[in-house]
Amino acid sequence: PPSPKKIKLSNENQKHTTSNGNFNNRPKISIQEHRRKLPVFGKRNKLLELIKNHNTLIILGETGSGKTTQIPQYIYSARLQENGKIAVTQPRRVAAISVAMRVAQEHGQGLQVGDVVGYAVRFEDVTSQKTKIKFLTDGMLLREAMFDRLLMEYTVVILDEAHERTLHTDVLFGIVKRAQKIREDRNLAPLKILIMSATMDVDHFSRYFNNCKAVYLEGRTYPVNIYYTIKPHDDYQTSCVATFFKIHKEAPPDHDVLIFLTGQEEIEACAHQIRLLSKDPDVQGPTVKVCTLYAAQPSSQQLSVFQPAPANTRKVVISTNIAETSVTIPGIKYVIDSGMVKARSFHSSTGLELLKTQKISQEQAWQRAGRAGRDSEGYCYRLYTRSQFELMRKSNVPEIQRANLTTVALQLLALGIHSVNFDFMDKPQKDAVLAAFEQLKMLGAVDNIMANGLTSLGKKIAKFPLDPRFSKIILSAHQYGCLEEALTVISLLSSESILLNPPNRREQARNVRQKFCSAYGDHITHLNIYREFNNVGQSNKRNWCHEHFVNMRNILHAREIRNQLEEICKKADMTLTSCGSQMDQLRKCLVTGLFMNVAELVRDKQYITLDKKQAVLIHPSSSLHGQQPGLVIFTEVVQTSKCYLRGLTTIESDWLSEIAPEYLKNHHMKVTNGS
Ligand code: ADP
Ligand code: MG
Repeated sequence: PPSPKKIKLSNENQKHTTSNGNFNNRPKISIQEHRRKLPVFGKRNKLLELIKNHNTLIILGETGSGKTTQIPQYIYSARLQENGKIAVTQPRRVAAISVAMRVAQEHGQGLQVGDVVGYAVRFEDVTSQKTKIKFLTDGMLLREAMFDRLLMEYTVVILDEAHERTLHTDVLFGIVKRAQKIREDRNLAPLKILIMSATMDVDHFSRYFNNCKAVYLEGRTYPVNIYYTIKPHDDYQTSCVATFFKIHKEAPPDHDVLIFLTGQEEIEACAHQIRLLSKDPDVQGPTVKVCTLYAAQPSSQQLSVFQPAPANTRKVVISTNIAETSVTIPGIKYVIDSGMVKARSFHSSTGLELLKTQKISQEQAWQRAGRAGRDSEGYCYRLYTRSQFELMRKSNVPEIQRANLTTVALQLLALGIHSVNFDFMDKPQKDAVLAAFEQLKMLGAVDNIMANGLTSLGKKIAKFPLDPRFSKIILSAHQYGCLEEALTVISLLSSESILLNPPNRREQARNVRQKFCSAYGDHITHLNIYREFNNVGQSNKRNWCHEHFVNMRNILHAREIRNQLEEICKKADMTLTSCGSQMDQLRKCLVTGLFMNVAELVRDKQYITLDKKQAVLIHPSSSLHGQQPGLVIFTEVVQTSKCYLRGLTTIESDWLSEIAPEYLKNHHMKVTNGS
């Protein structure tokens, strides 16, 4: 840890405080003044000139230099978008929403998002006729391309955070490049493409985009002192808390701290510990304001991380990799880097897509450290040793080379393109492409794996903004008379978890929710909770949620998603049938989409997946934990030290031969005597 002497408090800051008349050391400036101070501001005219003269342009600049928030506004005020809209993509919905809110505010809309500045993320469209600057997730723009492959609504498309190389952004590269070319060939309104990022392999990108020009924005960064641990730590979570309190004891109150962890559960647990310990009379230091930042969080809470802490209070932000490059939080002086990240990874050998906690890359480590040097010299505590750092990968593998490609293959087919012929910047692995087509064939979306188009079922599947397996379930529901229930189950699977499990009251939560537990497993348990929530009177809903440890916001969000899916069903003339308490109907319906996600009991507690014979266990959070049904379908796999299944429903073995005979031919079952 730094000695107190090492931490210099700038005199300028001190002066600013007194002249402002507040006791807070944080300087206060107006929002417009803030805009003018950003590094990108000095390049405004030059940038506009370049954007005007080039159809494709790469813009590189340090995180926090103002790319995302400023450049779309510059384009808009110079009217470079002419008669169209400006699309700005973000890999994450949190970033799309928070940036849109910030830009709306800067634009003088106040918090009225949806006016000139709006956003669209899956299941949430906050735009209007007036919207000209539209922030959206890369996944959303890809969906829009399915309905208008030339993206005629837009005259400028900004693909932001390109270095992240998410699956959707990678596909969009090809889609916008193609749209630009076709629009040019047909003399339609030209499409401008801007690729923005903090770091990237410029040559690689430029080559792909017909040797387009790249421009560098000079950043303004201060040195960051890096500290490594001397010995490796196993428990990075505890180390985060301990390191925080070491800093807390010595640093001045206005030096804020940013902690990088991997996901909601970890972040909430860490927040809880810090809140608790900071109130301990034995702990020295100022008051602590704990903020969290992760995908599954209400937008209002997300925005609070940008607000300066009150006087004599230290702000600590605990975040996923969202704060790495997508959003910049002012005032950060210390970064604590766990060195870990949660990432999706697909193994074509096991056929499983997992959400896995893994080590970050060196590039990510540098980005994280950089967050401490935005406003002045900073400090970064890496909770790993120098040699561990040196063993990390240099940069991330593009998601297209490690994700399940089924949805992408389906989306491209809806555009009339076979993935094999698509102009990818980096080609996906052949195995993964084949596996994707194999899945589509099993689902009935294509006739054969070289098909250049979708079957009529495939076209219907593509209409839903869902994993094709989930769309298939909804589309099969009429056959089983359970569309109402299927819609509920799929909506719950598409929202964040509706169950709250506070670490210190886990047992209590389990007990009070016991009455909803179904012997058939999690999907039906969740359905029961949803049904009961709907029956509770409007004025009692909040209390009811509180009592039953149900996350009210998430269940309401699930209801919204459900309404939207129901709309799509109505448009497709599907009848809303209900199976009442005939759960077999619903369970069979689930099998129509999830037959590739089956696991069977092989011996005590031990399961293997039918598809690739992977050894798995039932996750402790599942309502089936402790029981040993012979055969289950699952919706999620998580890997820690072992592989666990989450989101389970028990099924009967003869259903598989009834519903997916083709599949069973190739995947033999062991005869089990469980159930
Ligand atoms: P870049 O895209 O180059 O990383 P941004 O345009 O996201 O930079 O950010 C520019 C500045 O705007 C940053 O200094 C950041 O602190 C500030 N900023 C962004 N969003 C908010 C917000 N919601 N509230 C306050 N400041 C914000
Ligand atoms: Mg940005």
